[in-house]
Amino acid sequence: MRFITDSVQSVVLRFGVMYFRKSPTVLPHIPALESTTSLKSIKILLFSVNRQKCDNFIKSNCQFKMVNINGTPRLIKRLLIFPSNDKRFCYEFRRQRRKPNIFYCNGCEKMGIFFRAKMDQNGELQIQDKKHVCKKLQYSTEKYFDIRKIRKPNYEFLENCNTNSRKVLIIFNPKDQSQCYDFRWRSCTKSFCCISCDVEAKIMNISKKNEYVEMLRLTHLCKYRPYNREQFFKFNNFVLADDFEIQTQMIKGKERKTLFIFNENDKTKCYNFQYQPSVKAFICKECSKQKIRVTAKIHQNSDGEKYLLLSKKQHVCEMVKYTPQKDDEIILRQPDFKIMEETCDGVTKLFVFDSQDQNLGYIFPRERKNCNRYICHGCRHFVQRSKKTKEKLNGIVYLSLIKDENGEYFIQMKNQKRSCQPRKYEPQNELEIADSYMSLKMNLKLLTVIFIIKRNHHQNV
Ligand SMILES: [Zn+2]
Ligand SMILES: [Zn+2]
Ligand SMILES: [Zn+2]
Ligand SMILES: [Zn+2]
Repeated sequence: MRFITDSVQSVVLRFGVMYFRKSPTVLPHIPALESTTSLKSIKILLFSVNRQKCDNFIKSNCQFKMVNINGTPRLIKRLLIFPSNDKRFCYEFRRQRRKPNIFYCNGCEKMGIFFRAKMDQNGELQIQDKKHVCKKLQYSTEKYFDIRKIRKPNYEFLENCNTNSRKVLIIFNPKDQSQCYDFRWRSCTKSFCCISCDVEAKIMNISKKNEYVEMLRLTHLCKYRPYNREQFFKFNNFVLADDFEIQTQMIKGKERKTLFIFNENDKTKCYNFQYQPSVKAFICKECSKQKIRVTAKIHQNSDGEKYLLLSKKQHVCEMVKYTPQKDDEIILRQPDFKIMEETCDGVTKLFVFDSQDQNLGYIFPRERKNCNRYICHGCRHFVQRSKKTKEKLNGIVYLSLIKDENGEYFIQMKNQKRSCQPRKYEPQNELEIADSYMSLKMNLKLLTVIFIIKRNHHQNV
C-alpha cells in the first residue's frame, strides 16, 4: 500500500487494482479504513470489497439512452440512466476506453466512488447494486444530443480503392444520391474523415445486420460533391496528349507553366497543375492548398509522343472550369519604345509610345537594379497622390524587358488598366538632366577627394 499522486494532483491511495481518489470536497466513506489499524486486515477487507464490487451487477429496469455531448474536436458518447419515470433527471455515465460496454457514473467518480453500469450483448442494461453518492442531473436537450445515425442506402463503404488507405466512406445527400460527401479512412483516429473539412464519422457494427454510420459532429457545412464511383477504382495513371494541355506565360519576367488535365467526357472541366522546377513536375494547385500533393510528370514515348504520368495520390479537389490562354499578352518591339540607359537619376528607363499618338507616351523606370521589371512612373505617381486626394485608382502598369535569341530587346506586358495620362516624348529632358546628374556625381566625387586630402592634411599638421 502506498500513497501516490495522480495526474490531477490529488492524493490517491493505491491498493492492488483499486484506486480511491480523495476528492478535494468529499472523502469516500470506507468504514474498513476507519476501524481497522492492522495493515494486513485492511488488505483483506479491501480485497473482499473489491471482488464484491466487480461482480454485483444486477439487471436494471431503468430507462436509459445513449447520447452525445459536444466535445472538441468531436462528439463524446454518454449513457444516461433515468432512475425514475421522471425523464427530467438522469445520471450521466462515461464509457470505459478499453471496454466500450462498461460505463462509469461521472458524478460518483468525481466523489471518489466507482459506480459502474454494463451493457450486455442483448442490449440490456445492468448496474451495480448500490446507491449513487452523486446527485441526479437535470436532463436537457441543449446538453445531450441524439446520436446522428446514417443508415443504408444513405451511405456506401468502398474497399480496395485507389486511395492511400484503400477505404472510402461515401455519405450521400439524402435528397439526391448523385451528390455525396467523401470520407477517407484515418488510422490515427480510427475513423473516417471528410476530405474537405475535419468532420469524422464511424461505421458501427460493421458488416452486421444493424450496421450504421455515426457522425461525430453535429453539423457538417461542406458542399456536396458529385459522386463518381469509378473514380475510386481507376488504377491507370497515364494521361495521353489529347487529354492535357500545357500553357506557358511570362509573369514578372519569369516563365510559368500551367498544366490542364481534362475530364475525358467534358473538356470544359479540368484539373489545374503548376510546374515546379525544383521537383521537375507539375503539382495540382487546389490539392496543394489542402496539403495534398498530386503530381504529374511529362514523359515521351519512343515515337516522340508526350504523355503524363500521374502520382498515385488521388485528387481531393474538384475539377475547375477550363480557361483557354488569354490573348491579353502584348509584345512591343522597337521603335514602339526607347531605352534610356543613363538618365537623370541613374535609373534605366523605358519610354513606351502611345499606340494612338507617337508624340505621347509613358515613362517606365526600372523597378530595381538587375531586374527586368519596369513600373509606369505616371501610375506610381498617381498612387502616391491618391493617398491624399482619394482619387479613384485604376491600376499600375508593369512590363518586362526581355532580350530575345538575337540579342534584341522586346517588351512583354499584359493588357492592364492604367491610372495615368500619357505625356510628351522629350528625350532631351531626360538625357540633359542625365548629363547634369553625371556632372553632379563627378563634382561630389571631387569634393570628397578634396575633403579627404584636407582632413589628412590637418591631421598631419
Ligand atoms: Zn452517481
Ligand atoms: Zn466536410
Ligand atoms: Zn487536385
Ligand atoms: Zn501609367
